[in-house]
Amino acid sequence: LGASRTLWELLDRRAALTPDRPVLLQEDRAITFGELRDRSERVAAGLYGLGVRPGSVVAWQLPTRIETVLLSLALARLGAVQSPVIPFYRDREVGFALRASGASYFAVPGTWRGFDHTAMAHRLALELPDPLITFEAYDNLPDGDPAVLPDPPSSGTDVRWIYWTSGTTSDPKGVLHTDRSLIAGGSCLAHALHLTPDDVGSMAFPFAHIAGPDYTVMLLLYGFPAVLFEKFALPDALAEYRRHGVTVAGGSTAFYSMFLTEQRKAPAEKLIPTLRLLAGGGAPKPPEVYHSVVREMGVQLTHGYGMTEVPMITMGAPDDTAENLATTEGRPPAGMEIRITDEYGKVLPPDTDGEVRLRGEAVCQGYLDPAQSAGVFDAEGFLITGDLGHLTASGHLVLTGRLKDIIIRKGENISAKEIENLLHRHPAVGDVAVVGLPDTERGELVCAVVEQPAGAAELTLAGLVTYLRAEGLATHKLPERLEVVDALPRNEALRKVLKYQLRERYS
Ligand code: ATP
Ligand code: MG
Repeated sequence: LGASRTLWELLDRRAALTPDRPVLLQEDRAITFGELRDRSERVAAGLYGLGVRPGSVVAWQLPTRIETVLLSLALARLGAVQSPVIPFYRDREVGFALRASGASYFAVPGTWRGFDHTAMAHRLALELPDPLITFEAYDNLPDGDPAVLPDPPSSGTDVRWIYWTSGTTSDPKGVLHTDRSLIAGGSCLAHALHLTPDDVGSMAFPFAHIAGPDYTVMLLLYGFPAVLFEKFALPDALAEYRRHGVTVAGGSTAFYSMFLTEQRKAPAEKLIPTLRLLAGGGAPKPPEVYHSVVREMGVQLTHGYGMTEVPMITMGAPDDTAENLATTEGRPPAGMEIRITDEYGKVLPPDTDGEVRLRGEAVCQGYLDPAQSAGVFDAEGFLITGDLGHLTASGHLVLTGRLKDIIIRKGENISAKEIENLLHRHPAVGDVAVVGLPDTERGELVCAVVEQPAGAAELTLAGLVTYLRAEGLATHKLPERLEVVDALPRNEALRKVLKYQLRERYS
């Protein structure tokens, strides 16, 4: 199956192998691999009837439901170019995504969670040169006779996906992917996690995130099902995990903390009896979180490094040592080359921090805006990620920060991540983001923005500084400003902290 060139080919082969096994589970509904194939082909024919052709650009902003997966696979069957947009985005971001991608179709859910997406689509359509077709994708999915369809796409190397980055460091960028790069990412994930056909997975992140097709590829390769969550919130979601006997749950660091909070309410009971693995990534994970999850929840935790440009880069293997799982992002799979370089691209020896550069099948084709693509690939075709880290002698990747997340105070480089990891261990700190704020004298000053757990003691800057000194943090890295907030600003997809908003707010 791994040799499939296109997503449709992969689905077709899987459906022929295990047509009657379930693949998607949501509340009381289930759909098998065979049904997934046949229904998405009918949806493709329905879309064809609406005028969608191979190469048409279709944006969709749909919640995580079985129907959304059908629509996405239908577009893959047609060979259309799809641009998934996170459901929480509003006029400004959506208008930007529609204009930038040149979408001529836009699929929306009607009114969803009190917000009228159809009305927004009409508002935006007025501004756009091309008319948009708005349709409600759920209760009456487009439908048609597959006999009308042209052949499925045969090439896996055409750009068929436009994904939007999280917008941590700037406005979101449109990233171009092919079926081949997404299949490569999903295969890596599956191999790293040592999954079996008896596993039951779960998608807690929105299907509109790049992890959506990645995860789908994994289901198709291994033939196991996953539970979908339209609205993910704990403790409510626990009932679904238990009902479907989920063995592998995932998300980013913020999800691990949510699970831990629930676990601490009843420490003696296993939160999800069937769960064996929490697997996630996409944001820094303090070592402390790893140890707490393993100790308190009694499950393994593997964490990985990925980005919209390269959905799977490294992943911890469940049978790796606790030390490696706690302190590294795991190893790259076969086919993913990682180089640590200086700013000129010279390769650095192991254990030396530098820029992370990547080459491999899972790497994107570049950005929608050619100006953004310029300079992103080096002369040897490696993607320059903007992330910083080193490779250990055993080939494990350790991320130490982001180029844009380095605070330069009086000419000294300070890693926000180092300070965040220390602060995570402080009992009165729930979550924390450390950012550099412009300062006339020092260039930048170190500011810690803290979210406190319920009932925690009051925090003062002096108290934090005393703690960090005792932990051995160098004097020039000590925070000079503390902000305590109810909630850090986060993106909706992975609940990643939007640091540029903090910088703007406190500058
Ligand atoms: P933007 O590019 O719009 O500023 P973003 O880079 O946060 O936003 P994503 O593509 O969602 O958007 O995130 C990828 C980034 O997330 C990586 O470049 C890296 O900085 C960070 N990241 C991903 N996984 C990890 C991890 N395991 N540990 C630390 N950081 C991670
Ligand atoms: Mg990025």
